[in-house]
Amino acid sequence: MIPVQGYAGQTVAVLGLGRSGRAAASALEAGGAHAVVWDDGADAQQAAAEDGFYLRDLGKDGAFDGVAALIVSPGIPHLYPAPNLVIAKAWEAGVPVDNDIGLFFRSYATADWDNFETTPKVIAVTGSNGKSTTSALIHHILVENGRPAQLAGNIGRGVLDLEPAQDGEVVVLELSSYQTDLARAMTPDVAVFTNLSPDHLDRHAGLGGYFAAKRRLFAEGGPDRAVIGVDEDEGRHLANQLSDGSDDRVLRISAVRKLGGSGWNVFAKKDFLVETRKGRQVASIDLRDIAGLPGAHNHQNACAAFAACRTLGIGPRGIEAALRSYPGLPHRSQVVSEAHGVRYVNDSKATNVDSASKALQAFDKIRWICGGFQKDGGLEALLPHTGSVQKAYVIGREAADFARQLAGVDAQVCITMEAAVAAAHADAQAGEVVLLAPAAASFDQYDSFEKRGEDFTSLVKAALGG
Ligand code: ADP
Repeated sequence: MIPVQGYAGQTVAVLGLGRSGRAAASALEAGGAHAVVWDDGADAQQAAAEDGFYLRDLGKDGAFDGVAALIVSPGIPHLYPAPNLVIAKAWEAGVPVDNDIGLFFRSYATADWDNFETTPKVIAVTGSNGKSTTSALIHHILVENGRPAQLAGNIGRGVLDLEPAQDGEVVVLELSSYQTDLARAMTPDVAVFTNLSPDHLDRHAGLGGYFAAKRRLFAEGGPDRAVIGVDEDEGRHLANQLSDGSDDRVLRISAVRKLGGSGWNVFAKKDFLVETRKGRQVASIDLRDIAGLPGAHNHQNACAAFAACRTLGIGPRGIEAALRSYPGLPHRSQVVSEAHGVRYVNDSKATNVDSASKALQAFDKIRWICGGFQKDGGLEALLPHTGSVQKAYVIGREAADFARQLAGVDAQVCITMEAAVAAAHADAQAGEVVLLAPAAASFDQYDSFEKRGEDFTSLVKAALGG
């Protein structure tokens, strides 16, 4: 745990008692603060009381008397579509509102760092898609190259749950837009922006607000090095604002085109990753047979991770070896079975149109299981990428409507995962891929994308005979 600095002897309120909220309360206590916690859910309240946390109803009048700060979990809207009432009350009472990320950045460095030979560093990764893959890949490369490293953030471990730093350690943080929007302090040494496509627009009042949340990581006086995906206008704009293209502070990455000029670039073209610096090629890697990173989208993640690790002085060969041994994350381009020449791929994390269209471009002949709780914006942007789809098997409560939008695609309305897996399995020929890439959230039928991916995986295993 990272004890929180700066609040010893003060009372700090914590709203939301999921993983990050509970870790924040414990870390505040460890730093000498008195944490008072609240969650609207009765179960969460009871569990927290049983675990010895001090509950305080933060919605009550006067709840913020004597409170030094309010720490909020990422799932709770702080501004759009409307501020949570407790947050609004904190603002009214003049109490600063922050999150665990802000607390981490003010608490990670300690006086013992003076005795370290190599100062610990923080790499923070944000973007619309590929954050988890890029963060996990950076962590894997560091560990494989003998650097002490820890991984946390949106990827599943609360940042304040990390162990205190060791000499030369690198902390890799995956940060969502909700987290970067609320944190009051963010001072990573290296910040990575993978890409931008519309998502979570209700929480940010549109695409501009969403981009603004992510770019806070790169604010003036921010990271020493910035790794920026320049395949969208927003990334190009951000890179342009931070550097004129000739210095080493910004590393530009692309998964679609060769990058020239005198700056520091990493790009993937025709399945080769290339690094150039000051106009000269420094390294190249053949990505074709790297099983854990299929498709141009994963090549983008490889470029981002390669670039971030290069800023720490890790050599290209050491990075290449680690790319080859990367085991992949569950529910992201994960090959769960292979039989009779058919591969079964679980990409349940493809919850939006952009990530699903990337998955569709990563394979040649696809039996595509899709559908679920649709996000705003419709499915039109998927249609240009359905060329490899032999047939779609549509799940979800609104499967018929979803299928209707897939103009030009042979689509069967299956509704349940069970029916979809059975039909896709029966139809699949050698050389094809049965791909779960829903292009939708899971909440109409599942608690989470993980549960959806697990259901797919176990049905596939059952269909293949255990
Ligand atoms: P995030 O943490 O940003 O959600 P993940 O690495 O978990 O990203 O990947 C989420 C989904 O997005 C995956 O299912 C995959 O299909 C897709 N994806 C992964 N990397 C990229 C990328 N660089 N660009 C677009 N889509 C991607």
